[in-house]
Amino acid sequence: MKLVGIDIGGTKILIVLIDSSGILKKRIEIPTTDATPLIVCGRILEQLKLLGSFESIGIGSAGDIDNKNGILRYSPNLYKWKNVKLKQYFEKKLTVPTVVDNDANCAAYGSYIVDGKKKYKNFITVTLGTGIGGGIIINGKLFRGSTGSAGEIGHMTINPDGPKCSCGNRGCLEAYIGAKGIIKTAAKMGLKNITPAIIADKARKGNRQAIMVYKKFSEYLAVGIGNLINIFNPDMLTFSGGVSNNWDLIEKRFFDELKKRAFKTPLEHIKIIKSKNPENLGAIGAALLSKR
Ligand SMILES: [Zn+2]
Repeated sequence: MKLVGIDIGGTKILIVLIDSSGILKKRIEIPTTDATPLIVCGRILEQLKLLGSFESIGIGSAGDIDNKNGILRYSPNLYKWKNVKLKQYFEKKLTVPTVVDNDANCAAYGSYIVDGKKKYKNFITVTLGTGIGGGIIINGKLFRGSTGSAGEIGHMTINPDGPKCSCGNRGCLEAYIGAKGIIKTAAKMGLKNITPAIIADKARKGNRQAIMVYKKFSEYLAVGIGNLINIFNPDMLTFSGGVSNNWDLIEKRFFDELKKRAFKTPLEHIKIIKSKNPENLGAIGAALLSKR
């Protein structure tokens, strides 16, 4: 049985074909462009028609998603996309059941199966990228909250007087460790016009300012994850997203700091790792969520 997963991002769309255990069979990337949703969906459709037969489609995207009706209400990275009826569109064109969910929820569900093999029933995935996202699984089921927005880990306040966040609040975790936050920390240390990946390269080559940037990052991350551990007492927590590729620069400082903040017994119990497939997790998870 084959499943399709689609991760619609601000710059690219990732389409994967997987088997029912999450093993990747095919992977296609197309640019998102600023064309209308109808044109972009048409391009996705062309690609899907080349994949052969599949059972279902799962679509993930950042933003406000009406999971019940399969509608992308709003996405911060796709300014032309408002109330796009994705489920209706693909079900009409391909007569294949389609589900739509928040990309961080998709990543969490994907990691729950691919990284955790369904053995860790209380499970959290934190995506470290342009923004900071999160998906929470409780007793083996995705926890969406009462109105569907649970898991906005990036917008927990860690300093009420902190820098302004993209959400309008001040001092959110994302304002410190989202891509913009990392770049701001770097600028304060004299590293200007630079990306998180270049800072990481410099840190690996021994640049002291760049090492400090990731040290700061790790400390803020530990504050956020310490809160999650104390509140949820999960079995496993994974990191995905582009910035998780710098785990080698984060790991040690992160665990040192986490020991100061998380309660002892839950911290001894929890397994924390970087996902084994962080780039494809959103699309793989979307596909797995569509399997019913
Ligand atoms: Zn925020």
